[in-house]
Amino acid sequence: SASKRVAVVTGSNKGIGYAIVRGLCTQFQGDVILTARSEANGQEALKKLNAEGLKPVFHQLDITDGTSVQRMRDFLQKNYGGLDVLVNNAAIAYKSEIDKLQSEFSGTCEVENPPYGAQKIAATEPFSEQADVTMATNFWGTLNACKVLFPLLRPHARVVHVSSIAASMTAVKCSQELQTRFLDPELSMLKIEQLMNEFVESAKTGTHKANGWHDSAYGMSKIGVNLMAFVQQRELNADCRPDIVVNSCCPGDVATDMTSCIGMKTIDEGADTPLYLAMLPANTTSPRGHFVVEREIQNI
Ligand code: NDP
Repeated sequence: SASKRVAVVTGSNKGIGYAIVRGLCTQFQGDVILTARSEANGQEALKKLNAEGLKPVFHQLDITDGTSVQRMRDFLQKNYGGLDVLVNNAAIAYKSEIDKLQSEFSGTCEVENPPYGAQKIAATEPFSEQADVTMATNFWGTLNACKVLFPLLRPHARVVHVSSIAASMTAVKCSQELQTRFLDPELSMLKIEQLMNEFVESAKTGTHKANGWHDSAYGMSKIGVNLMAFVQQRELNADCRPDIVVNSCCPGDVATDMTSCIGMKTIDEGADTPLYLAMLPANTTSPRGHFVVEREIQNI
């Protein structure tokens, strides 16, 4: 029926997004939409969940493709008349970025024999390109999906951005001036967009380090995602639809294709905090507009 409850997870044909769909299928009252940019990969994932007795609905969605996002909106509008849970999980990372993060985080990334036959191949694309492409998916793709889908959110809707502690790790390495701009109490979406554009522009001219940015396109994109949640919550607090809650989170260190299958957690363990945020009960006062790690609020 046009008022049936519905949850959407972006990038859910594999990895943490797939596990979030699996969790929602048992916890969420309503239809769960498994989305993938590749129709074939999405259908394959659907079959695996069907084999477990779970019945998500498939719909194609590429968050960097405006037409695809609009088709998603039209599908939701027509079949459900709204949206109750949106999990923005889709993201990319160049391999060199993840190696760098893992070494910054744990002090070592030297894994002699990566499990599951995973291969560690460093990306060779120039940093300017990595910055542009990473930002286009992780920040602009997520933001555009929100801009198109937020009008569908019903009262009590829950929005979760799957971000990363790479954001905090990157933020502290930026100049004081930039850190002050991240923490601006009068931060607006326009100011966040300007920050992300400035980073990519200075990466293109090779001046990003001189201009105080850290050398992580992935980390910068996730700073954008965390700041986005903060501003969106402030905007939604003033919305006539009551009790819409937006948070960003880190799933932890999860073995997926993104991490070349190196990570402490399984995908289902990684899905725990995103699922907790997607299922926050009615009239939740906290977390709201926060960055959440292991179900706890953290600084960006
Ligand atoms: P995976 O690479 O396993 O999965 C990423 C998913 O996003 C895939 O389904 C991929 O589709 C999809 N995707 C990529 N680009 C797009 C796009 N333009 N439109 C739609 N879908 C897209 O990564 P993880 O499961 O590890 O990552 C999930 C989230 O968790 C990401 O936001 C990541 O940044 C975050 N994260 C992960 C950590 C980890 O340790 N694994 C740690 C911290 C954060 P396709 O199969 O077509 O490539």
